[in-house]
Amino acid sequence: KAKMEGRGTCRSFEPGMDARLQERRQLESELAIGVANEQFVVYYQPLHDAKTSKLTGFEALVRWNHPRLGLLPPSEFIPMAEETGVIDTLGEWIMLRACADAAKWPLPVKVAVNLSPAQFKQQGLPLQVAAALAASNLLPSRLELEITESVLLAHNENTITTLHSLRDLGVSIAMDDFGTGYSSLSYLRSFPFNRIKIDRSFVSLMCESSESRAIVKAVAELGSTLGMTTTAEGVETEDQFRLVRENGCTDVQGWFFGRPMPASELHTLFEEPEQRGALTA
Ligand code: C2E
Ligand code: MG
Ligand code: MG
Ligand code: MG
Repeated sequence: KAKMEGRGTCRSFEPGMDARLQERRQLESELAIGVANEQFVVYYQPLHDAKTSKLTGFEALVRWNHPRLGLLPPSEFIPMAEETGVIDTLGEWIMLRACADAAKWPLPVKVAVNLSPAQFKQQGLPLQVAAALAASNLLPSRLELEITESVLLAHNENTITTLHSLRDLGVSIAMDDFGTGYSSLSYLRSFPFNRIKIDRSFVSLMCESSESRAIVKAVAELGSTLGMTTTAEGVETEDQFRLVRENGCTDVQGWFFGRPMPASELHTLFEEPEQRGALTA
């Protein structure tokens, strides 16, 4: 009897497992096809100077225009792209696209591109970045690369060497999602980042939490001491904007200033009269 029950339990469990596994397999093969067919779109979200509100650049944020499921956010395919290895091809495509788009902007502001840990394992990453700059004729000073702590988590000498090779190209390097990892502070010691991006989780609590305000203030001071700019991520309200500014963040990014949008829609931002004096790279 126990055996029967065991099998019964198994049977009612298995079909669900199968379905999920099949769905995953399907998405994996669709992702490979999607990368081959360039089904991706790069959106851009503005960054502004905290003091003057002037435009300082855009972060490139990829979306997958899935033929069946519509526009998918990176959380739904970047982890899979890393696991299956297509991130190499996809990452290279994003780099080329972002540099080519930025080279066409009417103001020479920065473009920030996110790099995933898997891309750091490729020996040719600095060459790939150099090739993207050359192909688009974009000044290296206009490109910024964002890395999260996970890149440094598997940190060995190669990672730091790669970061220095990238810096030698003349591009800048930002530490993304600062404060969310295990030992963000110790990573600041291992490499001279140009920018710290304070994670949205701190910014979103600033109005109600004096602890969050104190942390943002301390990180902004630390950044200023280390010669790094500090960007507050995820600024959604005027109050949050006031608080991050008062607490010393040098740049702001978030829905209060603009959502990520396709390249074709950026002209509205460039045309705003207050952007005439945008802070260029
Ligand atoms: P991230 O680099 O920290 O990017 C910021 C994320 O916060 C973006 O989500 C952006 O849309 C969202 N965001 C910006 N302002 C606000 C706000 O005011 N409120 C809220 N609630 N959210 C805001 P997105 O586009 O979904 O990207 C998520 C993550 O996926 C990124 O986090 C980045 O780690 C990764 N990612 C995006 N594009 C790429 C890429 O081209 N390559 C790689 N490797 N990773 C990417
Ligand atoms: Mg980022
Ligand atoms: Mg971030
Ligand atoms: Mg973040």
